[in-house]
Amino acid sequence: MKTVADYNFKGKKVIVRVDFNVPLNHNRQVTDDTRIRESLPTINKIINDGGSVILISHLGRPKGGFEMDYSLTPIVPVLTKYLNKPIVFTRDLYGPRTVDECGKLQPGDVVLLENFRFYPEEEDADEEFAKKIASLGDAYVNDAFATSHRAHMSTFTLAKFFPNDKYFGLLLAHEVNNLNKILHNAQHSFTAIIGGAKVSTKLAVIKNLLGKIDNLIIGGGMRFTFAKALNGKIGNSLYEEKNIKDATEIINGTIQHGINLYIPEDSVVADAFSDESQTKICSTFDIPDGWEGMDIGPKSIRKCAEIINSSQTVLWNGPLGVFEMSNFRKGTKSVAIACANANMKGAFTVIGGGDSIAAINMFDLADQFSFVSTGGGAMLEYIEGRTLPGVQALLD
Ligand code: AMP
Repeated sequence: MKTVADYNFKGKKVIVRVDFNVPLNHNRQVTDDTRIRESLPTINKIINDGGSVILISHLGRPKGGFEMDYSLTPIVPVLTKYLNKPIVFTRDLYGPRTVDECGKLQPGDVVLLENFRFYPEEEDADEEFAKKIASLGDAYVNDAFATSHRAHMSTFTLAKFFPNDKYFGLLLAHEVNNLNKILHNAQHSFTAIIGGAKVSTKLAVIKNLLGKIDNLIIGGGMRFTFAKALNGKIGNSLYEEKNIKDATEIINGTIQHGINLYIPEDSVVADAFSDESQTKICSTFDIPDGWEGMDIGPKSIRKCAEIINSSQTVLWNGPLGVFEMSNFRKGTKSVAIACANANMKGAFTVIGGGDSIAAINMFDLADQFSFVSTGGGAMLEYIEGRTLPGVQALLD
C-alpha cells in the first residue's frame, strides 16, 4: 500500500479525491465538518512537501446536472478557515477556468473543483472524462473511504491514468489498516455486535465473520427475524419473512463454528412505535400480540456487558434498540459504556455505521473507541470481504 506518507510531492500538482459529502442546514451551512477536518492531514502533507492540491468530491445525489442545493460552495469558508489560507473554487469542472487555475498552481495552492456528480460521466466511470481530469495533475490520491465502494470516475477510473503516481490518502489508509486488523489479525476473544433494523443489509457481513469471531450478539429490530427463525413468538416486532432462511443459515453456521450466539433474551416492548407508548419487559421469544420489541431488556444488558467485558476485540455495527426515542435508548447506551470499559482495559473496539456513530456521539463516547469507521456502506462491504473498487484501483 503506497500512501502519501511514502512520497515527497515537491513541485507536484496532486488530484485528491476527498469526501466532502457533509450535512448542510436549510441555510446551506455545514452542520458537521468532521469529514472536512479528517481530510486535512493528507492535504497538509502535500502542501508541506511543497506540492499543490486539486480537490475533488461529490455532495449528495444530484440528478446529473447542476443543482444549487448540491454545489460545494458551502465547503469553501470551512476549508479556508482550517487551512488558514484562501482557496480557489472553480464551477466549470473541466472548463477554461479550471484548466487555467490548475495550470498556474504554485506550491501550497489549493483548488476545489465543483461536485463531480453534476456530470453523468462521474457515476458512469467515463474514461474520456477521467482522461481530461487526469491531465490537470501529476499524481492522484484517494482519501474518500466512504465512497470507495463505488466504481465511479473519481474513485476508480481516474487511478488508471496514474499507474506509478497513485496513493492512499492518510484517512483511507487508516480505515483500511484498522479494518484489516479486525478481519485478519484480531485478538481473541472476538465479539461482533450487529444491530439495527434492516437485517438484509447485515447478512453478508455476519456470514463473512463466522469463521473469525467467538461471540455474536444480534441486537436491534433484526433480532426478531432470528427469534422467529427459532420459533419464537414476536408479537408486532419488526421482522423480514424473506430473510428467515438466511437467519437459519447463520444460526446453523454459529453452531458449526462453535460461536457463542447471543440473541438478547429479554426485550423492552411497547404497544406502539412511539416514545409515549405503554411499555413492559418480556421474553424476546414470547412477545404478546399488539406489542413490539423496541430495546433489549435488563437481563440482556447485563449479559451483553459480560460478553463485551471478556473480549479483546469488539466490532459493533447497528444500534441495539430505537435509541432515537429516550425510552428505548438504554440498551444501546449500556453497550456503548461496556465497549468504552473494554477499550480502557486494552481491547480493540471498532464501531461503524451512521446510526451507531450518531448514538455514541449522543452519549459523548466516540473518543472511547479504538477506531470509529467513517464509511457506513463501504465499511459493511469491506467486512463482507468484498473488494472495494476505490481501494483495488490504487493497488492494481
Ligand atoms: P440500520 O440502518 O439497519 O442499521 O438500522 C438503524 C435503525 O434501527 C435505527 O434508526 C434504530 O431506531 C432502528 N432500530 C433499532 N432497534 C429497533 C427495533 N427493535 N425496532 C425497530 N427499529 C429498530
